[in-house]
Amino acid sequence: AAAPDLLLGRIRDIPDFPRPGVLFKDITPLLNDPAALAAAVAGLAAPFRGAGVDHVVGLEARGFIFGAPVALELGAGFVPARKAGKLPASVIGQPYDLEYGTATVEIHADAVSPGSRVLIVDDVLATGGTGRAAVDLVRKAGGTVVGFSVLMELTALPGREKLSDVEPHALLAV
Ligand code: 5GP
Repeated sequence: AAAPDLLLGRIRDIPDFPRPGVLFKDITPLLNDPAALAAAVAGLAAPFRGAGVDHVVGLEARGFIFGAPVALELGAGFVPARKAGKLPASVIGQPYDLEYGTATVEIHADAVSPGSRVLIVDDVLATGGTGRAAVDLVRKAGGTVVGFSVLMELTALPGREKLSDVEPHALLAV
């Protein structure tokens, strides 16, 4: 496993982004470091080798960055899960609550075949709202969620409880 500092040392705190009062974890320095990027991708994939993963679902937008190389490592296909209205073909969607209002996450209706095994990948698990919607969406499509893999979980927030049925795998907990 990678030394935690290789990853943690390349994530920076940005105060008041995207709104006043939010401390945003910026992963772009990690992405721009070849050793850290390789360690992150390997760590996200490691527990799911041999798990028979058919599809990796990456959550817009930073889940795309990690999801595609994780899919390559696992010999799986990659499926983008996007915000409403972005995917061109027929979609299935799952709405979820935001702090103000609601949002919907979508995948192409033919992307996850019934009975296939799916790993969901994202960068950060915060409240768990996005992840919960993604898990429910994959199940709605008939897929089996074999895991939820993230670079970092924010332990002050209830994401892990909200996803207790899938037991998220996090490389870092802060
Ligand atoms: P949640 O739905 O768990 O509250 O938020 C998770 C989603 O918001 C993820 O898709 C993640 O990319 C994004 N997110 C929330 N907070 C942060 C953060 O501090 N840093 C980064 N990089 N992403 C965040």
